[in-house]
Amino acid sequence: MQTPDVHTHEYQALDRAHHLHPFTDFKALGEEGSRIITRAEGVYIHDSEGHRILDGMAGLWCVNLGYGRQELVDAATAQLQELPYYNNFFKTTHPPAVRLAAKLCDLAPAHINHVFFTGSGSEANDTMLRMVRRYWALKGQPQKQWIIARENGYHGSTLAGMSLGGMAPMHDQGGPPVPKIAHVRQPYWFGEGRFAEGRDQDPEAFGRACAEALEAQILELGEQNVAAFLAEPVQGAGGAIIPPASYWPAVKAVLAKYDILLVVDEVICGFGRLGEWFGSVHYDLKPDLMPIAKGLSSGYLPIGGVLVGDRVADTLIEEGGEFFHGFTYSGHPACAAVALKNLELMDAEGIVERVRDDLGPYLARRWAELADHPIVGEARSLGLVGALELVADKADGGRFDKSLGAGNLCRDICFELGLVMRSVGDTMIISPPLVITRGEIDELVRLARAALDATAARLAELRQP
Ligand code: PMP
Repeated sequence: MQTPDVHTHEYQALDRAHHLHPFTDFKALGEEGSRIITRAEGVYIHDSEGHRILDGMAGLWCVNLGYGRQELVDAATAQLQELPYYNNFFKTTHPPAVRLAAKLCDLAPAHINHVFFTGSGSEANDTMLRMVRRYWALKGQPQKQWIIARENGYHGSTLAGMSLGGMAPMHDQGGPPVPKIAHVRQPYWFGEGRFAEGRDQDPEAFGRACAEALEAQILELGEQNVAAFLAEPVQGAGGAIIPPASYWPAVKAVLAKYDILLVVDEVICGFGRLGEWFGSVHYDLKPDLMPIAKGLSSGYLPIGGVLVGDRVADTLIEEGGEFFHGFTYSGHPACAAVALKNLELMDAEGIVERVRDDLGPYLARRWAELADHPIVGEARSLGLVGALELVADKADGGRFDKSLGAGNLCRDICFELGLVMRSVGDTMIISPPLVITRGEIDELVRLARAALDATAARLAELRQP
């Protein structure tokens, strides 16, 4: 424990008085007060009270290279001195945007050779939607406008991002405003398959049933009206949902049957999270478009984009005319310079291979041990993303009473013990920096178990009549 270096109460008071936080119940936070994070290094963050906390979420799934990399600071500084801002509109560009575009296309699967830059993952999904509809219009099929996404998927908070996402609570606040977006069931075996109808169902049959639901939706809308299917390789914000092995091959077969584009949202799974440069490579998806952000710059500066496969890019370029779309910060020089350096470091240090060959399998082994805990119904992981399902009854997957708020309770206990683990309902999630060591994975698992013990004890007290 270090001496507090910031006046916590002053910051909390100013925060309460003036700051509306994202995805936050403003009133509840005002009553509790914020935790003030002041600095970070490696996989650890520090708060204003002197606590050191293992960041099991890499910020918001983004600090892939870990905190405190001087090379990224230097790349930003040098670029800010050389050319802090210029845009890519009106027949201009600048070296960092061009070099980053080339590097990204080098890392992407062979059929992807173009990128459109944005400031965030949400803007990337907005851009993708406009591009997809434009593509079909240029192809003489302007009626092909429907995008099919998934329930409980997350694609951002802009109007298009939240419409594409399948988060019911977001839709409930004003309704999804962008028309012609449909949602099909998610391949969430533990939550919607395993214990459905009181049976222990086969995950592979469930994965195929989800792909059949997609086909049924296509036929209902009319295949001639469906532009694209959009999905994350592994759902992140929805609860680190890893589809059964049968799911993606079955989805690919459905899409191949009809003339529908595949868009894979790589905002979380891109840049090494699943042990490949892109989640699509892990699942062999060959998407037509890939929205990206987060790990692209390891979160050091905001940048996103859409990687565009040849099928769509060739049409936009050859037949397109002007695409009326773009952002002031599309390919911002300092953000692009930091992203480029980030990719170069990840490449040079073999970070992605280490996740695939060493850290991912190691985490899988250690994380799976938590499945023996009395309140854990499932412990799953892939690469460096993992989840624990909290249950009241291991035998039938019965959840705790909602009023107990088991997930949030566990999350708060984790923080107290020195670990950031996020809760999505009663699903606990990790997604640590990709530079985590085996020793730090051991510490993460030890802290997670201690938090589960403390959560179980607290829940037992709360459940007593
Ligand atoms: N897509 C996915 C899969 C995401 O997880 C997120 C952010 N959590 C977004 C899009 C939106 O990105 P941003 O917050 O940068 O707008």
